[in-house]
Amino acid sequence: MKRILLHSCCAPCSAAILEWLGENGYDVTIFFYNPNIYPEEEYLKRKSEIVGYANSLGVPIVDMDEQGWSEQHSGWLSVAEPLAAEPERGNRCLECFKYRLAATAKYGAENGFDMFTTTLASSRWKSLEQINLAGRYAQELVDSKIEFWEKNWRKGGLYERRNLLAKQFYNQQYCGCEFSVRK
Ligand code: SF4
Repeated sequence: MKRILLHSCCAPCSAAILEWLGENGYDVTIFFYNPNIYPEEEYLKRKSEIVGYANSLGVPIVDMDEQGWSEQHSGWLSVAEPLAAEPERGNRCLECFKYRLAATAKYGAENGFDMFTTTLASSRWKSLEQINLAGRYAQELVDSKIEFWEKNWRKGGLYERRNLLAKQFYNQQYCGCEFSVRK
């Protein structure tokens, strides 16, 4: 059975994918690494939702919060702040995906996973092309057989299922970083 490391951005984007992976017999572990989320209160809220949901399903979850929010977010800002003026779906978002997926690929390679993928790909607000570029970039960074799984998580009824299951969670008003907070 393939071991899948699922990078999760939040619970609403993860529920339908987790359901599909379970129904199709995959051995999945959730990986939470989202230092882009601002402010800390929002970060903790999104994290606690996915941790609680994973626990309710009995799916293992890795919380890659080794440094605490402030330090993690500062590291992410060093990459994203020079691109603050970029629109959503611009270069800042590509770098943001690369940053998060690089950590996912590294953890997956070090812990014997066969493939990694991301729930970022389930949202129509995000560019699938950018996500796939970032996933391939992350795969190439690690010296391992781990593969980036380029599955389109919006097809086969998954997008509709995502929207249905998302209703049980906190309704997020923006993508995540301070540059995406809607005025
Ligand atoms: S808008 Fe979203 S994807 Fe783009 S940089 Fe901000 S958090 Fe990352």
